[in-house]
Amino acid sequence: MRYKVRLILASAVVASMLLTGCGTASDTKHTGSASETQTTNSTTASSAQPVSQEIFAMDTYMTVTAYGDNAQKGVTDAVAEIQRLDNLLSIGKEDSEISKLNKSGSAALSDDTAVMVAKALDLYKSTGGAFDITVLPLMELWGFTTQEYYVPTEDEIQSTLQRVGADKLTWDESTKTLTLGDKQEIDLGGIAKGFTSSRIMEIFKKDGVTCGMVSLGGNVHLLGTKQDGSAWRVGIQDPNNTDDMLGVLEANDCAVITSGAYERNFEKDGVTYHHIIDPATGKPSNSGLTSVTIVSKDGTLADGLSTSLFVMGKDKAIAYWKQHADEFDTILVDKDRNVYITEGIAGNFSPDSVSANQVHTIEK
Ligand code: ADP
Ligand code: MG
Repeated sequence: MRYKVRLILASAVVASMLLTGCGTASDTKHTGSASETQTTNSTTASSAQPVSQEIFAMDTYMTVTAYGDNAQKGVTDAVAEIQRLDNLLSIGKEDSEISKLNKSGSAALSDDTAVMVAKALDLYKSTGGAFDITVLPLMELWGFTTQEYYVPTEDEIQSTLQRVGADKLTWDESTKTLTLGDKQEIDLGGIAKGFTSSRIMEIFKKDGVTCGMVSLGGNVHLLGTKQDGSAWRVGIQDPNNTDDMLGVLEANDCAVITSGAYERNFEKDGVTYHHIIDPATGKPSNSGLTSVTIVSKDGTLADGLSTSLFVMGKDKAIAYWKQHADEFDTILVDKDRNVYITEGIAGNFSPDSVSANQVHTIEK
């Protein structure tokens, strides 16, 4: 069997190239490989010179960039925090907290993991089960964890679904103890990068950095405005043609997080299967959406919702936004390249006339 594998670096890689910060985008050099990290400007930064470091963690290339006198300290601390959280959460590392929990079936969690689990369980409830951290057995069945891709039979999907469902988890908030149901496994991959990007913003602030950004796969998180007070410009990737841009969003001091069917997928017999699973069917979500971008101050929420709204599809996603409009804004793209953008950010988005078809503003 031959599978055509496409692993495309997520939208923020493109986005980061478009981001122009307190210096210019060309001030930062984006290099690096799976095993190395590189400080592209290791001398103490003047206010115009960014310090930028690349790192491969959480299965993706990340770039941390800070400006100003404290930039080097901010970047160094941020990279250390990324590595710490990766070691805590990675399902690919046998001694991570999550791997140990998946083996033992029950554990009292560290503070950070507990915050993520509590948020994930809230999202499970509020999204009607679209966001479910127990989908890991399905990710394994489809080969997304090993990249040995496989299209399972209906029987295999149904029997794996027995192990899926966050309603089978027992969460004791007071002791932060999570107990899994029979043969269950969890994966925080749907929110971990957003949690990490929010944490980096906290670290920047603690270190006295007032202008910076982090690009973690499809996730961008921005601290402040550009030093001249103007807005950052974030390129949103065209889900149908990943070399192109759907448009550019001006944003400040927030997370801009995209989930797309193009991020990690494989093709078999002319059908493309991607890595966002609909827990209701056990299959890659087929909701009609090809990309969901969430804009929010809360990176964890934004990451969780980008996955959730992708699964929910346009109508449910819009209904969800109307209930939670004070928490986030969103850009939805459907299979016909129509764009649906909520009113809070509609005025800040410049669509590309080729990549975007009709652009609809969603009002409350
Ligand atoms: P990425 O991590 O590639 O940026 P997402 O944020 O959309 O993309 O998260 C996808 C990841 O979340 C998958 O790799 C998997 O680990 C996990 N996941 C997949 N489907 C779901 C789901 N329905 N609910 C929660 N997590 C999911
Ligand atoms: Mg997500």
